[in-house]
Amino acid sequence: MPDPASLSDRLARQITASGPISISEYMRVSNAEYYARADPLGVDGDFITAPEISQMFGELVGLWFADLWLRQNRPENIQYAELGPGRGTLAADALRAMAKLRLQPPVHFVETSPALREKQNLAVPAATFSDGIDQLPSDSPLFIVANEFFDALPYRQFVATENGWREQMLSHDGQSFNVIAGQQSCDHMVPEDFRSAETGSIFETSPASVEVIYELSARLKKQGGAMLIIDYGYAQPGFGSSLQALKKHEYVDPFISPGEVDLTAHVNFMEIANLATQQGLLVSGPVHQGAWLSALGINQRADMLAVAAPDRVEDIMAARNRLVDTAQMGHLFKVLAISTPDWPTPEGFVQAID
Ligand code: SAH
Repeated sequence: MPDPASLSDRLARQITASGPISISEYMRVSNAEYYARADPLGVDGDFITAPEISQMFGELVGLWFADLWLRQNRPENIQYAELGPGRGTLAADALRAMAKLRLQPPVHFVETSPALREKQNLAVPAATFSDGIDQLPSDSPLFIVANEFFDALPYRQFVATENGWREQMLSHDGQSFNVIAGQQSCDHMVPEDFRSAETGSIFETSPASVEVIYELSARLKKQGGAMLIIDYGYAQPGFGSSLQALKKHEYVDPFISPGEVDLTAHVNFMEIANLATQQGLLVSGPVHQGAWLSALGINQRADMLAVAAPDRVEDIMAARNRLVDTAQMGHLFKVLAISTPDWPTPEGFVQAID
């Protein structure tokens, strides 16, 4: 049934009136509406994230920051900032672990969704909210964390055609959205090494992510501190569309119900690493999430929790396995740190991805 108020119908009307929109624009408006509406996380929602699987995840993130802080001789005015904090679970677990080592920083949440802000406020009542990274404090060292944030930002796609590279656009034929190649030449958007790829190859890039990394790298350089990025993605860029949509834990067609499904793309960790390195920051990783959590002692933490709650041993070990196992989240998810070069080298980045 057409619903004139639905995002799908609104976008269809817009395209009919003004012409095709880019996949990136489609992703931007779809996710803005999707996250604004409701909390999509958890077993009853559309997808589940590492901090929602186990408290061990956020605790180890907190210990990782606390370790850096201790080795940097406890700078006093450090600030904790999180991008897209979901339900605030990661922050609550990380802050609890940090507080045990006497690190109790002020907390800043960069979050656009009113529905999720409400949950985050319950999890961490002392947090200050901002709509964008430009509002983060500019005069003190920052500990920044982003788990499954960059995958939700808009991604542009370019396709190799007989006539060179073109942007992937969406048209609408009255029934459905269709992917078409745009009219303008986009050769300059594709790295030189990739330009001779065969017809049909798709190259993805996320200018929105690049902008965030660029600005935060500049701040880290000036203010000191570190940023931890955890997401699914690849260490070496390749070709192909990684755009996907999740609804109730199932993959669905990304072009059917914009605003009602979680749209994501795989994060290009090389793009992020190169940019931060060019800006003079220390880049550690990417490494596999499983290797990073293991290096930080997730097995010991699981054993401790199991001793404290013997009736929950199976759940605790299942959660540990889900986070670490190669066939589960352990390999698909990667961890990358960007830090100030005159700070100590971050822990956990021991096993490089081959
Ligand atoms: N980090 C959380 C949630 C991941 S879901 C976890 O691991 O559980 C993505 C999060 O990013 C949500 O909180 C969503 O509302 C937020 N988000 C998405 N796009 C955003 C944007 N452009 N600016 C700020 N937050 C955004």
